Amino acid sequence: MRLIILGSGSSGNVLYIESGATSALIDLGLSAKETARRMTEAGVDPTRLSAIVVTHEHTDHVKGARVFSSTAEVPVFMSEATRAECKFPDNGKKIPWGETIASGEPFQIGSLNFYPFTIPHDGVDTFALTVESEGVKVGVVTDLGYITQLVAERLRGSTLVMIESNHDRDMLKVGPYPWSVKQRIASNIGHLSNDETARWIREDFDGQAEYLVLAHLSRRCNHPELARLSALQALECHGSLFFPRAEERVRIALPDRASEWFEL
Ligand SMILES: [Zn+2]
Ligand SMILES: [Zn+2]
Repeated sequence: MRLIILGSGSSGNVLYIESGATSALIDLGLSAKETARRMTEAGVDPTRLSAIVVTHEHTDHVKGARVFSSTAEVPVFMSEATRAECKFPDNGKKIPWGETIASGEPFQIGSLNFYPFTIPHDGVDTFALTVESEGVKVGVVTDLGYITQLVAERLRGSTLVMIESNHDRDMLKVGPYPWSVKQRIASNIGHLSNDETARWIREDFDGQAEYLVLAHLSRRCNHPELARLSALQALECHGSLFFPRAEERVRIALPDRASEWFEL
């Protein structure tokens, strides 16, 4: 299995994952054109994608899904409630085809096995996923107000964990957003702060992952170095043998360019 994060953050989330001949995008929150461009740049053929999986209806997760799916004839896997709620910037037409999935119900696309589970966020039916293939498990968890026991349990045993580290609480307090937006982000159905992600690392992370990828960072209320230091400090609490070479293995997913390839 290998994966690459084509973009991460409120300007658009797209993750590409493949195993053997099967390939899928998890969320398609960049434009279809930009997604295809980043895929091509990463060396993968946008016309040979097996499926798109959408976690929830927020624009930063679905923006390009309709155009991409109709142009490249790729099915979109999403829940019924999410499909009904999707609105697109151009003319609001619905995604024409695909499969209906439901939180808590595993599904398979070729050689990729998906395990969706509900997370606390303000979408109509938001879920996170673990993906498994050939004994390798990956956890993809962004867009949640706090880390539930279910999330902590599902992430155990993952070879790569991509987890949100959205904002620094102090930067959010003094940041440029209106009060209502700050309330939303900080609420228990908003986004994870660096502190909450650090708490998960200290209390629930099993240390088994080869990579810990911090994602969905706020441009205005966080800084990649701040998120990284917060995670590294939390890892240090376990002692140096828990997650050796942490400096190399904690990575940051950025909004404006793709990450490196993760070969797992
Ligand atoms: Zn988002
Ligand atoms: Zn969201």
